[in-house]
Amino acid sequence: MSSNAACIFCKIIKGEIPSFKLFESERVLAFMDIQPLARGHALVIPKTHAAKLLDVPDNELEECMPVAKRIAKAIGANDYNILQNNGRLAHQEVDHVHFHVIPKPDAKQGLQIGWPQQ
Ligand code: 5GP
Repeated sequence: MSSNAACIFCKIIKGEIPSFKLFESERVLAFMDIQPLARGHALVIPKTHAAKLLDVPDNELEECMPVAKRIAKAIGANDYNILQNNGRLAHQEVDHVHFHVIPKPDAKQGLQIGWPQQ
């Protein structure tokens, strides 16, 4: 399992940067996003370091979507987005593969999900 000393998410995995962890296994970590697009916005990452989806071996990825499902269920939103960005034009800022789990709050909560504009 590869790690990158300069990577923020590798530092979170190693505990060098604090995070609010939701789930951890040998291959996967889930934690709250530090700048949530909506309340409950979480990230699911493979522990192995790879910048883009195509760089991650399948066996390192296979637990990510089941964990994202569990996070979505735990958050309890009826509607939600699961997103995975690759490359700057696709809004990727952190070069360690990650899946966003972003609840869509119902209208009465008055919150809206909006991706930052370039
Ligand atoms: P991207 O734009 O790369 O798809 O998303 C990166 C996400 O990582 C952003 O939603 C951002 O708020 C989150 N993020 C960046 N740095 C940190 C950090 O140090 N801790 C946590 N928990 N989230 C971070």
